[in-house]
Amino acid sequence: MVGHVCSHVPEEVVTAAGLLPYRLRGIEITSTAIGDTYFGPFICSCPKAILQNAGDGRLNFLDGAVMVQACDSMRRLDECWRKAAVEKSAHMPGFFHYFGVPHKVTDYSIKWFAEEIEKFAGEMEKHFNVAITPEALEKAVAVHNETRSLLLRLEDIRFKDDPPLTGSQAMAIVLASTAMPKETYNGLLKTLLDHLEAAPGINLSGKLRILLAGSVVDDLALIEAIEHEGAYVSADTVCFGARANQGAVDGSESVWLRLARHYLNEQFCPRMFGYTKDRFDLILKKYEDSKADGIIFQNIRFCDLHGSENGLFEKRMEKGGIPAIRIEREYGSLADEGRVRMRVGAFLETIAKGAGKQGGRHA
Ligand code: SF4
Repeated sequence: MVGHVCSHVPEEVVTAAGLLPYRLRGIEITSTAIGDTYFGPFICSCPKAILQNAGDGRLNFLDGAVMVQACDSMRRLDECWRKAAVEKSAHMPGFFHYFGVPHKVTDYSIKWFAEEIEKFAGEMEKHFNVAITPEALEKAVAVHNETRSLLLRLEDIRFKDDPPLTGSQAMAIVLASTAMPKETYNGLLKTLLDHLEAAPGINLSGKLRILLAGSVVDDLALIEAIEHEGAYVSADTVCFGARANQGAVDGSESVWLRLARHYLNEQFCPRMFGYTKDRFDLILKKYEDSKADGIIFQNIRFCDLHGSENGLFEKRMEKGGIPAIRIEREYGSLADEGRVRMRVGAFLETIAKGAGKQGGRHA
C-alpha cells in the first residue's frame, strides 16, 4: 500500500504497479505531541496530524509513502517525517519518495512533470521489483477514468431537487474512493448509483442548500455539523471531495504526458498559479448546477493558499448577490465544532431572512 498526501499525485502509476494508492489522512489522533515537536505552531494542522499518526504507529501498514511539495506545509512533511523516524521511531515505509509538482502549466512544465512521473514509476519498479508495463498503465488509466465519471454521476444525484442521500452520506462515498482498490470500488459504486438513481428523495423541506468550498475536508464531521444546523450540502469543491473528479486522462500523447496534463490542469487547487478565474468559475458553476442557496468557504487555519483565495471569492460572491461566508477552522473531527455550528446557524438564518421565507430560494 502506498500512501500519498495530495490530489496531484497520479495514482494510476501505483495501481499499474499492482499496489493500492491510499490518500493519507490525519484522522483518529489522540495527541499532537509529535506533530507539534517538528512543525511548530503556525502551520496547517493536517500534515501535523499525519505525522502524529506515523509517530503513533497508525501508519505501520504502509509499504510506501509519496511526499509532495503541494503547499509549504505538506512539503515540510517530507523532512519532518524523516527526522521523526530517526528520533521518535515513526514508521518509515521502505519506499519514501519526494515527488515534485510544478506550480504553473506551460509546455515545459508539463514536459518536466511527465519526466517526474516516469521517474516515480521507475523508482517504484526498482523498489517493489515490479514491471509497470504500458498495458498495465493504460488499464489503470481506464479504471481511474471510470471512477471519475462514476463520481460525476454521484454529483448529479446530489444536485437533484429531491436527492436520495444527505451531503455527508455522499461525502462518505467519495472518501471511500481514496482508500479502496479502484476496480472493486467502481463495481460497488455502479450498483449503488443504479439504486440511488431509482430511490425516493429524502425530506429536504425547510432545508437550505449549501455549496462547501475550500481546503481539505477528509472526514464527515464538518458536513454533519452543517447539515445538523438545517442545511443540505448539495455540492462541494473541497480537496478530497468532488473537485478531484473533473475531466479524464485522455488524448493521443504518451501516457506520461497525458497524466502530466491531467494532474496539472484539473485539480483546481490554489497551489496552481494563474488559475484563480477557473477556480472561481468552477465554484459558480457548481453553485448554479446544485441550485445552492449559499456558499460556505472553509479553510484549515494557516492554510495561506485557501485562506487568501477564500477571502477574495467570498467578497466577489457577495458582490454578485450570492450569500457567502468564510470559516477558518482547526483540522480534525469536531475541532471547533461549537463555533462552526454557531456561525453556520447564523449564516443560514441570514439567507432564510434574505430570501424572505423559510428555506431560501428552493423551499
Ligand atoms: S489543498 Fe491543494 S495542495 Fe493541499 S493537499 Fe489538496 S490539492 Fe494538494
